[in-house]
Amino acid sequence: MAARVVDNLARVRERIATAAERSGRDPSAITLVAVTKYAQSASLAALIEAGCLDLGESRPQQLWERAKEFAGRGVRWHMIGHLQRNKVPRTAPLVTLLHSCDSLRIADALDQALVQSQNGSSDEAQPLDTLLEVNISTDPAKGGFAPDDVEAGLAHVATLRHLRVRGLMAMAGKPDDASAAHADFRHLRELSERLKSHCPPGVTLDELSMGMSGDYEVAIEEGATIVRVGSALFEGVEP
Ligand SMILES: *Cc1c(COP(=O)(O)O)cnc(C)c1O
Repeated sequence: MAARVVDNLARVRERIATAAERSGRDPSAITLVAVTKYAQSASLAALIEAGCLDLGESRPQQLWERAKEFAGRGVRWHMIGHLQRNKVPRTAPLVTLLHSCDSLRIADALDQALVQSQNGSSDEAQPLDTLLEVNISTDPAKGGFAPDDVEAGLAHVATLRHLRVRGLMAMAGKPDDASAAHADFRHLRELSERLKSHCPPGVTLDELSMGMSGDYEVAIEEGATIVRVGSALFEGVEP
């Protein structure tokens, strides 16, 4: 089983490199986040052993458990799912990057929860690095900032002392449709480029987190700096 995970990892890395080269990009500029939400501990151990140290979870509880289980192994944890306010104090210190700040309400709640969790010693504490999640396909059934609201969102989050925006995150509206995914990812990159030149102080838009198992190569061609890949790593391993 471990051998199969390592095999899958090699294939995904290979495809990342090929997609990067195809679009004239340096493969080392792309971070693979292995999404382990459906994987067993043994699969995580195999990934870590193979040097895949950026791991993503969508449920805080599972992230806590696994951060504990694999403490001291150099794992960088990415929170990619919705984070409720009451889970912030315990999650924030474990997380390298939060991908899923998806509204002003959540941004404010995160900031307040971070103040409280730091017990007033906020001057010394590191802000939490985050991405703003954008509803790039403007699907009313999906969460995230509307593309037209991102600029105002950045301006607001820039005033929150405990959050530091690093970039944007999105999912393609129709993951099985490559040409629709191309368009969605291109729109996210164009939005990021348009806003980059006049970012508020403290905000950077260097990261574009986009692309999952079905469309990560498309996302790389459109400029992804982070891809979040789950099921492709666990084919033949997890049910
Ligand atoms: C589950 C999940 C992924 C990974 O999806 P796969 O299709 O299994 O690669 C990526 N991003 C988010 C936000 C997810 O919830």
